[in-house]
Amino acid sequence: MSEAAGEPVWRKWHDDGQPVRLGVSACLLGAEVRFDGGHKRDRYLTDVLGVNVTWLPVCPELEIGLGIPRPTIQLRGGERGDRLVLREGGEDLTDAMRAYADARTAELDALGLDGYVLKKDSPSCGMARVRVHGAPGGMPQRTGVGHFVQALERRMPLLPLEEEGRLNDPPLRERFIEAIFSRNRWRVLVSRGLSRKSLVAFHEAHKMLLLAHDESIYRRLGRLVGGLGQQPDEEIYASYGQLFAEAFQRRATIARHVNVLEHLFGYLKKRVSSVEKREIASAIAEYRAGRVPLIVPISLLRFLVASHDVEYVRGQLYLEPHPRELMLRNHV
Ligand code: SF4
Repeated sequence: MSEAAGEPVWRKWHDDGQPVRLGVSACLLGAEVRFDGGHKRDRYLTDVLGVNVTWLPVCPELEIGLGIPRPTIQLRGGERGDRLVLREGGEDLTDAMRAYADARTAELDALGLDGYVLKKDSPSCGMARVRVHGAPGGMPQRTGVGHFVQALERRMPLLPLEEEGRLNDPPLRERFIEAIFSRNRWRVLVSRGLSRKSLVAFHEAHKMLLLAHDESIYRRLGRLVGGLGQQPDEEIYASYGQLFAEAFQRRATIARHVNVLEHLFGYLKKRVSSVEKREIASAIAEYRAGRVPLIVPISLLRFLVASHDVEYVRGQLYLEPHPRELMLRNHV
């Protein structure tokens, strides 16, 4: 993992042989697999995110043999929608979908997934707020979860999930993409063979990114790494992987970003001129007030870190945790 000059920080922790791999509702990529033979292509997924990830498209309804065109199905009963049934006639598909979804999600898990993008409102693929029908003529409740998603949650409870529409929301998009890239880095590390040394280096590089998401987990991970040698390595690796994934379920808020920016500024204070100090303090204040996006203080910090060659900060993934062209920090 040597640091090539000019290489973005995130690059050296990823591996072209193990790209970020996402499951996706096949209709979102333009496959004509919907009940009426149509699709729901999402341009952000195909034209922007798709350049940086590998997709594993799945259409659960087609794969359980419902065909195209097919009758409409819906969730019925219970808060999350206990049963999956044909709207006309009421044939119950719950057991067939469950058997298929448990086997398919096990297959996806074995391939290695970093996240999943789901089609909203679908009784199979919807992540939340799917209509659940009760008594005939009654109003459906928007409390359901698609049955394929329920299987994903059973199999991979910490897998980052997101719906296509929500990815238009910049903070939700940033949280999801940070989570999938982070999960991929952990998978790459594990596949290369974990060691005490590699875990310490991984943790060091992620410190500020973790702090931006969850300070309590950041501290617990620090204690875990500090305890290497005092309990079996395998136990530490397993706990680290679990907690690391949990950290990215929490969103990095403006307040948490400001906390991290000030931490990083602290490392630079002794190296930079008074003019540079004023500039960075002002960029952080402007960001805190919501007048400039996160990319402004980050770019300034990156520049100062490179000019003053502050090695510890230069290696922090927080400064650049994913490809720049995704422009995630231009909007949060
Ligand atoms: S929402 Fe899911 S089940 Fe429906 S067409 Fe898209 S991929 Fe298939």
